[in-house]
Amino acid sequence: MIRAVYPGSFDPITNGHIYIAERAAALFDELIFAILINPDKASTFSQEERQIMASEALAHLPNVRVKYFNGLLVDFMRQQESRIIIRGLRALSEFDYEFQLAQMNRQLAPEIETFFMATDAKYSYLSSSGLKTAFRFGGDVSEMVPPGVYARMKDKIRRNDK
Ligand code: ADP
Repeated sequence: MIRAVYPGSFDPITNGHIYIAERAAALFDELIFAILINPDKASTFSQEERQIMASEALAHLPNVRVKYFNGLLVDFMRQQESRIIIRGLRALSEFDYEFQLAQMNRQLAPEIETFFMATDAKYSYLSSSGLKTAFRFGGDVSEMVPPGVYARMKDKIRRNDK
């Protein structure tokens, strides 16, 4: 039984995240979609909102479980008895940061491996923060997120054009 963990802020989950989760879920027996709760970093959506949106968006994947964690990722990995971290890569510009993170995690927990998965070209521009900015300024982002997320964005994020 191989269990992988896909960690991130997912504030909110986008179609790019769903794409990676679908591909990882097809490769591993179980995938934990792990939402990082960072008390030092302001988030747009609460822990509960992020969890609900992710659970709805991933409901079609029976071997995916949505959880949240705070503190060190490697501690969560050990708790969940998983040795595989999944990270999505959009562009070369992300590599430095991701490589550093992977090496830090390896220092902390040598038994854990980071797997990088390339996104699809159609999601390579898509980030949670870019999405929110575009939405705030009146951009049509309805094709970038599942309908449930779009509905919550309309409730939560004040649009500057209205
Ligand atoms: P974090 O706050 O951990 O940087 P995010 O919540 O933005 O991250 O994303 C979590 C993971 O999903 C990261 O590995 C990130 O590179 C990846 N990711 C984000 N957007 C996309 C996308 N459009 N396609 C594929 N992977 C993505």
